[in-house]
Order: sequence, then structure tokens, then C-alpha cells
Amino acid sequence: MTWSASIVTLFPEMFPGPLAHSLAGKALEAGTWRCETVALRDFGLGKHKAVDDTPSGGGPGMVLRTDVLAAAIDAASNPDDQRPRLLMTPRGKPLTQARVRELAAGPGAVIVCGRFEGVDERIVAARDLEEVCIGDIVLSGGEVAALSLLDACVRLLPGVMGAAQSGAQESFEHGLLEYPQYTRPQQFEDAEIPAVLTSGDHGAVERWRTERALQDTRKRRPDLLSREMAAESRRPIDKSGGSDV
Ligand code: SAH
Repeated sequence: MTWSASIVTLFPEMFPGPLAHSLAGKALEAGTWRCETVALRDFGLGKHKAVDDTPSGGGPGMVLRTDVLAAAIDAASNPDDQRPRLLMTPRGKPLTQARVRELAAGPGAVIVCGRFEGVDERIVAARDLEEVCIGDIVLSGGEVAALSLLDACVRLLPGVMGAAQSGAQESFEHGLLEYPQYTRPQQFEDAEIPAVLTSGDHGAVERWRTERALQDTRKRRPDLLSREMAAESRRPIDKSGGSDV
């Protein structure tokens, strides 16, 4: 089944953008996923096709109108569309690799991109939007955020990555960052590849990688470890006896 993305945006020409290249681009050509855009401007009001208005209560900038957004979202999906509807916004829940895996395993996504000061809040409840944030940064629009989310999903679709990169050992899986990587040359300026990696001792390589993944995560992202421990403690205890013999 084709994984299908529909993007509601003021800038449809930004898609598929970088995702027309490399692995995602090949998968797009192969029909593994589909990328449709719905141009917000087509639903604009009046002679000037207005999509925004001034913020209620005052303040700088403009806000995307809820009626215009609703019409565009309704055009992007039909009532029995099973795809989740996402709104890219700094006010959303931080995106995680776990959520990306769920999205990639589903039928696709309808993605709404904000612009200017953002969107009229009422659209969130009116169209049941899941608010997604891609990091504690402020972008100028939702398009680059949507492209990041799409890239993360598409690389996980069946057949997109080679079997060698199944993703099982990557950063954020099991609450850890990945171990650091090296390749030739053996010596670069005054830095050498850690000897264990070229020792040919697979067991030692495994142990070194596990240790570095733990050590680096502790140092750089202790929040990942605590999140994983919290998730672990919420998991139901397996009372089946753990054996099927
Ligand atoms: N005034 C808003 C920021 C608007 S930025 C605020 O302070 O919360 C304009 C648009 O860019 C947003 O509507 C959203 O669609 C997108 N955007 C900006 N930063 C983002 C982020 N970190 N994650 C997801 N979308 C983001």
C-alpha cells in the first residue's frame, strides 16, 4: 500500500523539495509513498484570496484564518480518511522516533503547515489536529518541519533503506544515542580510529559500542535515559512465564 502524505501549505512548490532526491526520491518514483499538496491560497477569500488576518487582541504579524484552513483540510482528506491530521507548531508535543515509527506504520498523514504568527487556535479542535513540534526552535513556517517529519517517516517505509540499515541500532531506539562512527583513513591529523574497531574482535567491538552509546547518552542526553526508564516502568509485566515451550 502506498504511504500517502497530503500537505496543506501556502507554498506547495516547496514539496517534495529535498525529498525528490536520494532514498526518499527513489521511493517516491517507485510509488512507495505519495506526496500531494493542497494550496491554502486556493481557499483564500475575496479578490485577494486572503488567507490571514490580524491577531485578535492585537500584536504583530498575521494569523492564518480558521475558515480558510478548514476548507483546505477538508479538501485534503475525506470523512473516512484514516490518516492522522498533524499541525506543525512550536506549541505541539515534541516529535519522537517512536511517534515517527507509528506514523510510518500507518496509512500516511495529512500535514498542516502554519505561517506568520501561526494558525487560529480553533482549527485544532475543529479538525482534530495533533500538534507536533520538531524541536525547541522557531521556524518561519511549517514546511521545513513537515519535510523533516516526512523524511523521518519515509526512510522507515518497507524497502526504502537497505536491510543493512534496518534502523534497529540507531539513535533514539532503546533510549540511547548511537555509538560514534569511524571510517578510513586510519590516521587523520593526530586522530586515530579506536584500535578496538580494527581489531577484528566482534565481541569486543559490540561491547565498546554498547559502552560508548551508554556513556555518550549519559553525558549528552540524560533526558533520553530517564524517559526510557519511565517507559520501562509503565510496561506491563509479562505474567505468561516467559516461555512458550
Ligand atoms: N508565533 C508562533 C511561531 C510561529 S512560526 C509561536 O511563537 O509559537 C510560524 C509557523 O512555523 C508555525 O505556525 C508552525 O507551523 C511552524 N513552526 C515553527 N517552529 C516550529 C517547530 N519548532 N515545530 C513545528 N513547526 C514549527
